[in-house]
Amino acid sequence: MRAAHRILRDVFGFDAFRPGQEEIVEAVAAGENVLAIMPTGGGKSLCYQLPALMRDGLTVVISPLIALMRDQVAAMRAAGVSAGALTSANTEDETAAVHDALADGRLSLLYMAPERLASGAVPAMLRRAGVGLIAVDEAHCVSQWGHDFRPDYLRIGQLRRHLGVPLAAFTATADAETRAEIVEKLFDGAAPRQFLRGFDRPNIHLAFRPKDGPRRQILDFAAARKGQPGIVYCGTRAKTETLAQALREAGHNACAYHGGMEAGDRRDVEARFNAEDGLVVVATVAFGMGVDKPDIRWVAHADLPKSIEAYYQEIGRAGRDGAPAETLTLFGPDDIRLRRTQIDEGLAPPERRSADHARLNALLGLAEALTCRRATLLEYFGEAAEPCGNCDLCAAPPEAFDATQAVRKALSAMLRTGESFGAGHLIDILTGKATEKVRARGHDDLPTFGVGGELDRAGWQGVFRQMMGRDLARPDPDRRGALRMTEAARPILRGEAGITLRRDTLAPAPRRPAARQLVSEEDAPLLSALKAKRRALAEAAGVPAYIVFNDRTLIEMAERRPDSLDALAGISGVGQKKLEQYGAAFLEVINGAQEAVHPARRRLAGRAAGTLYDQLLAAQADLARGSDGTEKPLSCSASQLARVAATRPADAEALARLLGEKRAERFGPAFLDVLRTAD
Ligand code: ADP
Ligand code: ZN
Repeated sequence: MRAAHRILRDVFGFDAFRPGQEEIVEAVAAGENVLAIMPTGGGKSLCYQLPALMRDGLTVVISPLIALMRDQVAAMRAAGVSAGALTSANTEDETAAVHDALADGRLSLLYMAPERLASGAVPAMLRRAGVGLIAVDEAHCVSQWGHDFRPDYLRIGQLRRHLGVPLAAFTATADAETRAEIVEKLFDGAAPRQFLRGFDRPNIHLAFRPKDGPRRQILDFAAARKGQPGIVYCGTRAKTETLAQALREAGHNACAYHGGMEAGDRRDVEARFNAEDGLVVVATVAFGMGVDKPDIRWVAHADLPKSIEAYYQEIGRAGRDGAPAETLTLFGPDDIRLRRTQIDEGLAPPERRSADHARLNALLGLAEALTCRRATLLEYFGEAAEPCGNCDLCAAPPEAFDATQAVRKALSAMLRTGESFGAGHLIDILTGKATEKVRARGHDDLPTFGVGGELDRAGWQGVFRQMMGRDLARPDPDRRGALRMTEAARPILRGEAGITLRRDTLAPAPRRPAARQLVSEEDAPLLSALKAKRRALAEAAGVPAYIVFNDRTLIEMAERRPDSLDALAGISGVGQKKLEQYGAAFLEVINGAQEAVHPARRRLAGRAAGTLYDQLLAAQADLARGSDGTEKPLSCSASQLARVAATRPADAEALARLLGEKRAERFGPAFLDVLRTAD
């Protein structure tokens, strides 16, 4: 077996590389200069951690966030790798221990904040320590035009020249300008080997909904995912507070996070989010780069993000471990107005502003898309894709209609009123509603008055929202959001182009079935037992739960139920060190679960009645508190269920003889259904 594969299996516990990882690992291990662009969750860290173990000497990792470095060091140590960090958050003892290890040549990985490079002594110290490779995480921080710019990143190029060692840079930001800047600043313009790995994150479910009682929409979405860690992004600080409060009242473990909070409070939230299992953080975009938690199961946007890039980055925080994750983005005309105004009133030069409008347009196009969201998103990033089967539009294609006439009427209403009014007033005109404002301005005499009978108010709202989304109409910031026609709309007005829109996206959403479960119903109890064990071990060790094992690993354990240490070693994410440290504890949980199967059920194993028993058990669980969930808990004994499964009573009376009146009344109809469909 090749060295890289062996380390991958023994140290990291993974059977296979993720797409793109292997080539990068090979190149970095061979000492090439590398720039790798991989999506969040693609597994960038491994691309320098693994080569660090293959190469002689120390690998120094420059990373912008202290919390993130500490977690990575903890994760590396848990895997048995000697790693340390030099950051301002270190205690004196920690720093001394790192220096000792450096002096003895015992460290494989040294994490360091870029600010450290400002100290003149550091390059010489690194040289003495025998650095053989520099890895730069979040390399886009070197870009002066990006929002994550960190001036000290500009010192990295100098360090590379000073040490004369190869450099590997990693980022998830891929636009050509940023890439060029990275090459110039980190590699002195000498092109490194570049790897560009696709943007798809197939495990993330994508969904958008027009706002329709947004608070309720967010609460419903969160309720279906209760107990799972998630992020709700909001447009304003005030909203993070009120929504967090509402979530707490609904029984969630939730807290707010925004840039106006004290630094210490912000760090507390970050630390809690990392360490706890089911915290919901309601945040502005300030909650971002430092979030490295791999098992975030959902991300909701209570307000529309500012661009398609921002959207991709924010939803991308979910499901880095590769297990299923879900997202929901809400949007409405107010969002569009707000985002346009922010761009127009911003300080950016005009060409930048029009680029920002284009990025917003791309996001709105995604929000109003008629076919697969993922394909639409990937197309924006220049990738071709088939319909994905894991988005709301693949699940339920929207009804489209030829909206050419409707849009022309709307444009005409806008133009005839001097482009001075918002959608509400224009809809009054189109639907022939003679409000005071309409009459006062004589708009009931316009030829467009009352010509829009083909759609109701909600229908017209959908049309206007989509017109704004397609950038056919823009709110004018100088005129309090009055809608102006854009050049893009002219061909439609002139009858030279047609347009198709989605119909009634404002109709009440079908009540979304409960969140998809991570494992089958049968494996769910074992998964929660494994999670409880993980929590206990993590708390005892003072590390976040995922440092012990991530969700993906626990899911595989619950499904495959390894019954020996050997079998456990075959689970993805279980390396040698973790096998030694935790293997026995988790095996005990798995074996315990095996035994928890009732003897009455075990006797039916491998027979049709066994399956029937399980179906009866599931039907019973649904009715444990009655069909409306409010009655006294009630259940049948295992031997009663086994008898029903084995004898298959044909009617209610026969069933009542086995179960008694009370139980037959609650469960009878459902059980008979199970028995009938089993025939
Ligand atoms: P990125 O920095 O690219 O966002 P990370 O390096 O944090 O991603 O990796 C995300 C998650 O994927 C981590 O939990 C990591 O353990 C896991 N991972 C990385 N490589 C593999 C692999 N080859 N097989 C399985 N899981 C992996
Ligand atoms: Zn799709």
